[in-house]
Amino acid sequence: MSAADERVGRWVRPEIRGLSAYHVADAAGLIKLDAMENPYPWPAPMRAAWLQRLAGVEPNRYPDAQARALKARLARTFDVPSGAGLLLGNGSDEIIQMLALAVGGRERRLLTPEPGFTMFRLIAAVAGMDYHGVALNADDFGLDVDATLAAIRTHAPALIFIAHPNNPTGNLFEPDAILRIVEAAPGLVVVDEAYAPFATHTCLPWVGEYDNLLVMRTLSKMGLAGLRLGFLAGPAAWLDELDKLRLPYNINALTQASAEFALSWHAELEAQAERIRAERARLAERLAGVPGVRVFPSQANFLLFRVAAGCADSAFAALVAAGVLIKNVSGAHPLLADCLRVTVGTPRENDAFIEALEGA
Ligand SMILES: *Cc1c(COP(=O)(O)O)cnc(C)c1O
Repeated sequence: MSAADERVGRWVRPEIRGLSAYHVADAAGLIKLDAMENPYPWPAPMRAAWLQRLAGVEPNRYPDAQARALKARLARTFDVPSGAGLLLGNGSDEIIQMLALAVGGRERRLLTPEPGFTMFRLIAAVAGMDYHGVALNADDFGLDVDATLAAIRTHAPALIFIAHPNNPTGNLFEPDAILRIVEAAPGLVVVDEAYAPFATHTCLPWVGEYDNLLVMRTLSKMGLAGLRLGFLAGPAAWLDELDKLRLPYNINALTQASAEFALSWHAELEAQAERIRAERARLAERLAGVPGVRVFPSQANFLLFRVAAGCADSAFAALVAAGVLIKNVSGAHPLLADCLRVTVGTPRENDAFIEALEGA
């Protein structure tokens, strides 16, 4: 063991040493359908106007610490209820971390449905929280409300995350099931609506009606993944506390200017989301036609599908060999056995994916 290893072993917290860093696959040279990015570039006039806007940013100055203009634009664009406050994060991942740090610590529990978004478990560990996953229903990946309410009684979680639509299963939950959980929870319930642009239901209008409900959104999946901007809407009492552990200037000047600009072109982003929703339907139909494949319903910009038993790893490898990168989630949870997740790309990318899968 080297001297550095020895010192690391002595000082780095055991819960951190037990983690694996969030793994991002190398997509060089591949059709990238693994990360729920929007595949469409901005139209030329939008791009030109954006570059002009960026020319006015002063990189020698700190950004607006409160990002006031951007918050006002977000509130208008997404119809945030008038009584609600907003907290911004460097991606919604940073907001998840702020939430966990605010309520975390010994004997504090984070509860979330599984299979779910991997960052919840990772960040729970970083914040020193106990993590409890409650399995979704095996048949339709719906919330198992009875099991969740029982887990709430047993564990009294400080924090519950519900991704709606869920990642990696792609489905929305029953609104009524979410409300029963909100009403039973002793602590915070955060509905993570990363895929709202592709879904037919949102909990955002409920913000303000429940003292323990917060709704989180991100601009990543609607086409601004590179900017890193997420927001949390909820009662000021919660946001004021979270704001204390937000690092100053967490939203940089280029992101503030770019996001505000992009939202002034929201109709264009919405048109792209509409194309993705239409393409999702076409891709689901083609995928369902591949022998041995079962496709699950999706309200997000990706599809979860199951291949023949024991074939997920070989299908994934054959796709990579054919130049297409998707996500192999088959080992992530027992309910995901033989499952893979593909992001909805452009029609050409999706056709290349289907052809590669048929040849796999
Ligand atoms: C992608 C994703 C996020 C993270 O979004 P960023 O804003 O890019 O950090 C959060 N929650 C879920 C469920 C996601 O799938």
